[in-house]
Amino acid sequence: MGKTHHDAAILADADAWRSRDLAVLWHPCTQMREHPGTLPLLPVSRGEGAWLVGPDGRRTLDAVSSWWVNLFGHGEPRIAEAIGRQARTLEHVILAGCSHLPAVELAERLLALAPRQSGRDPLAKVFYADNGSAGVEVALKMAFQWFANRGDEPRRTKFVALENGYHGETIGALSVGDIPLYRRVYAPLLMEALFAPSPDAYLAREGQSAAGHAEDAADALARLLDEHAGEICALVLEPLVQCAGGMRMHDPVYLKRVRELCDVHGVFLIADEIAVGFGRTGTLFACEQAGIQPDLLCLSKGLTGGFLPLSAVLATQVIYEGFLDDSRERAFLHSHSYTGNPIACAAALATLDIFERDDVVARNRRTAARMAELAAPLRTHRHVADVRQTGMILAIELAQDGRRDTPFEATRRIGLHAYRHAVDRGVLLRPLGDVLYWMPPYCIDDAELELIADVTRTAIEAATA
Ligand SMILES: *Cc1c(COP(=O)(O)O)cnc(C)c1O
Repeated sequence: MGKTHHDAAILADADAWRSRDLAVLWHPCTQMREHPGTLPLLPVSRGEGAWLVGPDGRRTLDAVSSWWVNLFGHGEPRIAEAIGRQARTLEHVILAGCSHLPAVELAERLLALAPRQSGRDPLAKVFYADNGSAGVEVALKMAFQWFANRGDEPRRTKFVALENGYHGETIGALSVGDIPLYRRVYAPLLMEALFAPSPDAYLAREGQSAAGHAEDAADALARLLDEHAGEICALVLEPLVQCAGGMRMHDPVYLKRVRELCDVHGVFLIADEIAVGFGRTGTLFACEQAGIQPDLLCLSKGLTGGFLPLSAVLATQVIYEGFLDDSRERAFLHSHSYTGNPIACAAALATLDIFERDDVVARNRRTAARMAELAAPLRTHRHVADVRQTGMILAIELAQDGRRDTPFEATRRIGLHAYRHAVDRGVLLRPLGDVLYWMPPYCIDDAELELIADVTRTAIEAATA
């Protein structure tokens, strides 16, 4: 027997597992020099609800939904079942020229659930890709090509994005992202985008309301759109929460203003709900809270309940029709080998079934209220500058003197220390810089939330000591 995953020694010995991993794996979003010394690798052999279980039986609470993808807990049997059934029926088929029912039914149901705004052309067509970044690339290319196909406004080639936004790691998606850590080294490769000030409420002036700051940001956007009138094809943003940018949140009034401004300037609005979609913010989609509908909607992450990679881009009929032509070149020729994979679509359909049957959004409202109660005592902590929440996302921003203008020096690696402490105590937090956040699977119960809150408190103490 070779070293199979049944290797008994590995299953019993977390350290042997770690060395075997580090001998061959290059982990994502990781300075590998930090393994194993600074950063212990967490071996996971099973998932159960909100828990990750290690080879030695050690249990770790997944407070970050495994990079924001998991919705109903690990191993949710209804999704697992649907995947098995689909895998035995049709595992995959080319989606160019062929059709399969999971793709059709999922498109029908996503369009029926998508945000709507009265008097607007609804989202009418679904294009599949296989991860979030690819979905963003699709939306950007569609907006750009729509104008290129028309040919009457040759200067409409630019994108507007928001400061501190994040849309993925591929070159196009990175070009409309504004997080220096991910972006800076690739700057020479990136296409040029215009960045508008973030509506982020954390940036509000002393005494200014979140809505007041959002209005200021919208005014600045209006000036930018005026200055570049006729040059912009689309604006892309993360509605309500800039997640990778530190769980920075904004008032929904900003989205209303953006919708109006995009209409005035003939610019497509791309809503990237890859992280905030599927109930994370308290409504099924974040755009609902502003009563707006985008022209292009990007979905991924929770789309399959966190089981399989899949993304969907929903587009209006107007956009779709801009590609209908006698010329093949005017078609949208973008494709990925695994586009619309039937097993991933089946996982997404099972996810939508759960939303229907379990009244997930209402349950989330109760869970979110409990999260708020548990986080409230942290507000007065001497190193806490902000506790903010939008639905099932709660963030705690740390600062030296508990004030926004006194951030910790980056070299102190506050987040890293908090991470290590929390993992030692059985909770997986994955701070973004000095921002600790809770974004748990929706199945999280009261006792589990209490554990997260307790470990967060001690992690802050340990990291700032
Ligand atoms: C995660 C994320 C992406 C990228 O999705 P991947 O599947 O990681 O490529 C894009 N936009 C937002 C808002 C995200 O949070």
